[in-house]
Amino acid sequence: MTTVPLFSRLGLTPVINASGTMTVLGASRVVPQAIADGAEIQSHFVRIGELQARASRTIARLTGAEAGFVTACSAAGIALSVAGCMTGPNLGRIERLPDTEGLRDEVVVPAGHLVHYGAPIDQAVRLTGAKVVPLGSPGRVRPFHLEDRIGERTAAGLFVVSHHVVPEGQIPFEDFVRVCRAHGVPVIVDMASEYDLRGPLARGASIAIYSSHKFLGGPTGGIVAGAKELVRAAYLQNRGIGRTMKVGKEGIAGTIAALEAWERRDHAAAREREAGFVRLWQERLAGVPGLALEVHHDWTGNPIDRLKVSVSPTEAGLYAWELADRLAAGNPAVHVRDDLVEHGHFFLDPCNVLPDEADVVAERIAAEVQAAIAAGDGCRISLPERLRRQDEAALAWPD
Ligand SMILES: *Cc1c(COP(=O)(O)O)cnc(C)c1O
Repeated sequence: MTTVPLFSRLGLTPVINASGTMTVLGASRVVPQAIADGAEIQSHFVRIGELQARASRTIARLTGAEAGFVTACSAAGIALSVAGCMTGPNLGRIERLPDTEGLRDEVVVPAGHLVHYGAPIDQAVRLTGAKVVPLGSPGRVRPFHLEDRIGERTAAGLFVVSHHVVPEGQIPFEDFVRVCRAHGVPVIVDMASEYDLRGPLARGASIAIYSSHKFLGGPTGGIVAGAKELVRAAYLQNRGIGRTMKVGKEGIAGTIAALEAWERRDHAAAREREAGFVRLWQERLAGVPGLALEVHHDWTGNPIDRLKVSVSPTEAGLYAWELADRLAAGNPAVHVRDDLVEHGHFFLDPCNVLPDEADVVAERIAAEVQAAIAAGDGCRISLPERLRRQDEAALAWPD
């Protein structure tokens, strides 16, 4: 592990990120081109409208959209897109939000798509003044639910593609688009974490939204891509509610660079590098007592495999969440993907680790299990207790 002077100076804990692209850990390692362009533009003035128009051309080329622009993040992209669907290019209405009097102000969303990505998605919709109309039940959403709730007041349909979405019983994208289109209602697709840049627009969506700081390796930002009139209406929200979620010149320039780097990237080599880490973890953890290992393909079909580590508390001497917490409590802190840990497993995600870090991840997991067996101090913190402690810690910030 190389020491980072900034971390020493600020007294920060070094982090090894085997969890994926997580906002609470700083999302991703930004690609060099995006760092360089973002840094270069910092010392200069630029006409933001011109920079965003340049971003529009790159976004259009990569997504197949007519136009696009860069936002502060995907959550901001959702809010601005919904707002644009309500106001159109009407500057008075844009300044009036979240007062929606006289506007179409309902957004239909399959109930199983009301996800939480660190904050609830319905809040990104509601803070524009729009009302969320959930369709069906979380595990059962059919086209007739949409037919029943879509109408004169519907401003947009929101569709989410994500591992957060309830995995079964969801309305197919094609049906969602077909019914919305028949009613003249635009479809906004939240693709924040999905590698497929062209699919949703090619298949009939009006707007697709991506995070710049996730798989693209861009700076913190979001990308709104879609039909020109709707994108323009969303962009104009920067004169309204968008002001509270402003992206800077470095975010826009960095996102253009990240998209262009994505175009040129050797994706096969990246897959091979990631698969190599998963193989290494599989080999190095094979003999650790109480761990069952399995290669896990991504939930929504992104081209990334992770190592699923199931923890037998009786054999490993501790619960899966205790292992995750002990790894995170170390120095360097090792963060694993533990959002499904209540099932007794976590995942090792290779996309943000460096070769020497991959070694440390394996060593630390083996060492923590051996220490728990030797000390017999595991299986003490139940899942409800862990959740209670997490909430307590959140409420104790900054202490
Ligand atoms: C990460 C994520 C978001 C939020 O993205 P930000 O760019 O961090 O605001 C929204 N939706 C989904 C499905 C996500 O995975």
